[in-house]
Amino acid sequence: MDGIETFPAKKLLTPVKMSMEHFFLSNYTLNLYRGCNHGCIYCDSRSECYQIERFDDVRVKENALWMLRDELSRKRESGVVSMGAASDPYNRFEGKLKVTREALKLLHTYGFGVGLSTKSALAARDADILGEIAKRSVTSISFSITASDQKVARFIEPQASSTAARFAAMAMLAKNDVFTGTWMNPMLPFITDDEENLRNIIRMTKDNGGRYVICFFGVTLRAGDREYFYQALDRDPKYREIKQKYVDTFGFDYECTSPSIQRLYDVFREECDKAGLCWNFAELNKAAMAKCPQQLSMF
Ligand code: SF4
Repeated sequence: MDGIETFPAKKLLTPVKMSMEHFFLSNYTLNLYRGCNHGCIYCDSRSECYQIERFDDVRVKENALWMLRDELSRKRESGVVSMGAASDPYNRFEGKLKVTREALKLLHTYGFGVGLSTKSALAARDADILGEIAKRSVTSISFSITASDQKVARFIEPQASSTAARFAAMAMLAKNDVFTGTWMNPMLPFITDDEENLRNIIRMTKDNGGRYVICFFGVTLRAGDREYFYQALDRDPKYREIKQKYVDTFGFDYECTSPSIQRLYDVFREECDKAGLCWNFAELNKAAMAKCPQQLSMF
């Protein structure tokens, strides 16, 4: 298929347990692609436990759209499908292949809502179909934005769209009445965990029509992912010392929380409240559901 490798899949939609308080509303996860080319140096999907070989090479599931139509048509009730958990649905092939776009059309045809997260401005291309889905189903489109400073963003997410382009895409979706906001994760201790970055991202979210910012104030690192991250830090003299700080502060910890979490959390809540942005899942999901009362029975 157009220069991209394919791989077989038995099933596309995986049921998930819904939680109002702990994550975006979702009944199923969907990954049409495997691997991701955005190159984020902290990407958890590189962890050995997932066993994804050649993670930076994007592959697409064989017959993905045919299978998706088949699975959706056999569901007795509609629901919300979340995309992008293990690979960005807007990778560099998507512009040409339009697999994500066609999948969104199918979700709309069968009355499903959608939740997705992306680091690509290409999501703006689908503002039309996302706007149609949002008219009748629960929809939340999150832009993963971690650094307001473009130099920092380029270093930690080398192939992703620029921070400005991601915010411009957010504005385009908001204009189409799509519920959208910022997934400010991970927050990298000693790199992006500063007040200025936090305030900037909250302000830019508000200015571009976003309705929420979600932040966990840390990063997770485990075997595979940790080595890749440390090698990237080592390659740049500016970040070498920071790598040593990680080693000294976190050792082999899975959760690496910002040492400044308390102060940052206070600023975060205050600034989001001032800007009228949701900052936790309970508020965010309530706001997403309020946009389409006809789907309330699902939850
Ligand atoms: S966009 Fe997401 S899946 Fe892709 S490399 Fe970055 S963190 Fe990993």
